[in-house]
Amino acid sequence: MTWETVIGLETHVELATKTKIFCSCTTAFGGDPNTHCCPVCTGMPGTLPVLNRKVLEFAVKAGLALNCSITRYSKFDRKNYFYPDLPKAYQISQLYLPIARDGAVPVHTGAGDKTIRIHELHMEEDAGKLVHDPWIDQTRADYNRCGVPLIEIVTEPDFRTADEVIAYLEKLKETLQYLGVSDCKMQEGSLRCDVNLSVRPMGSEEFGTRTEMKNLNSFKAIARAIDYEAKRQIELIEEGKRVVQETRRWDENKDATYAMRSKENAQDYRYFPEPDIPPIELSEEYLDGLRSAQPELGEAKRARYQADYGLPEYDSQMITSDRALAAFFEALVELGAAPKQGANWIMGEVLGALSARGIEPKDMKLTAPTLARLIALVGEGKLNRNTAVKVFEAIFDTDGDVDAYVKEHGLEQVNDDGLVREVCARVLDANPQSVADYRGGKEKAFGFLVGQVMRELKGKANPQTVNTVLRELLTR
Ligand SMILES: [Zn+2]
Repeated sequence: MTWETVIGLETHVELATKTKIFCSCTTAFGGDPNTHCCPVCTGMPGTLPVLNRKVLEFAVKAGLALNCSITRYSKFDRKNYFYPDLPKAYQISQLYLPIARDGAVPVHTGAGDKTIRIHELHMEEDAGKLVHDPWIDQTRADYNRCGVPLIEIVTEPDFRTADEVIAYLEKLKETLQYLGVSDCKMQEGSLRCDVNLSVRPMGSEEFGTRTEMKNLNSFKAIARAIDYEAKRQIELIEEGKRVVQETRRWDENKDATYAMRSKENAQDYRYFPEPDIPPIELSEEYLDGLRSAQPELGEAKRARYQADYGLPEYDSQMITSDRALAAFFEALVELGAAPKQGANWIMGEVLGALSARGIEPKDMKLTAPTLARLIALVGEGKLNRNTAVKVFEAIFDTDGDVDAYVKEHGLEQVNDDGLVREVCARVLDANPQSVADYRGGKEKAFGFLVGQVMRELKGKANPQTVNTVLRELLTR
């Protein structure tokens, strides 16, 4: 029998606000345990939560970008459960009237285009963390993360393959980063993904029993967990056994999933309307303001780079994969760099230098005016490309002054044709064997002669001029 895998995703995204969702504690990652806390986020009796305006704004922006309809009258609900990382013994979330619903995300995979439907997007608070210390065999609670704002984005069960899941997550990550609502760092847990998966005979309309895999923390882990879990369920059914509805944990080291606990249903949480926070009513003016302030997203940028700048699809994809990189590219073009030149420098030297140093584009010191100046010097024939790359390496870390560096190191390209001609003649005189080889048809000898001239001129000659002059002298 052929089986079909059916997957739905619940993605938790930490919002990049400075303060927590219901108090003014910092959301900074890390810090000494229990230093980013106050009576509100640790759930002390008598305290009252106040909704952070920025959390609402970020959630609405995300909802708009994911083509959701925004709920004009929305509410928070209380989700009750006890766990040591949750000192209030309830989480403030949204169940009945989430802030956004019915969205759609177009994704592209090798198999074609597809639209993933978004069931809902809601706001909620994060819980703390339990840290096990094997040295003293104790588990300790760190409440720094309590009250960090989250949005949870729930899709319909529209995925059929791991490829589609990864394409969706990449799109989601890119969109949220462009909006500036989250840094989406999976390694720091600011984007976490739960995968709901079931299998059914191909062509069947009915859903099979699903399992949930929690907190997968890399795209690689997600893809592998999906493949493993689909196979496990198919094998169970083919052996005549039953899939149990449960939460499973992916073990990265063993490449397998393990049962964690039986899956709860909504009623197990005794949800009820959160009495401490008033309902949120959004005006049309508020929504219009946010709609008109939405930035250009990756998809639109890629189309524009190809249409307006004539960039190949590959270049557009590469540059727009990061918001800071795209902004850097646009600044270069605005400063007069030819788009393809700018793109080549970014995809070659800039990305190379960043990856060699392990830094993100947004943390790069080099500014667009500096690189634009370097590109202009090459364009004007004042620097040759090879020398320009050396200058680039020298100034990259400090955003140094290009002109000062070139002057100080005497790197200006030799455009004195008389001097080039003089050196070429001297090199030919000194290398009669190579001259004879070249005239005898050995093209390699020509490369050697060019190299000699460049060496004499300390690499500063215009290679084009050297080529022309040498050929001219050799054909005499
Ligand atoms: Zn607090």
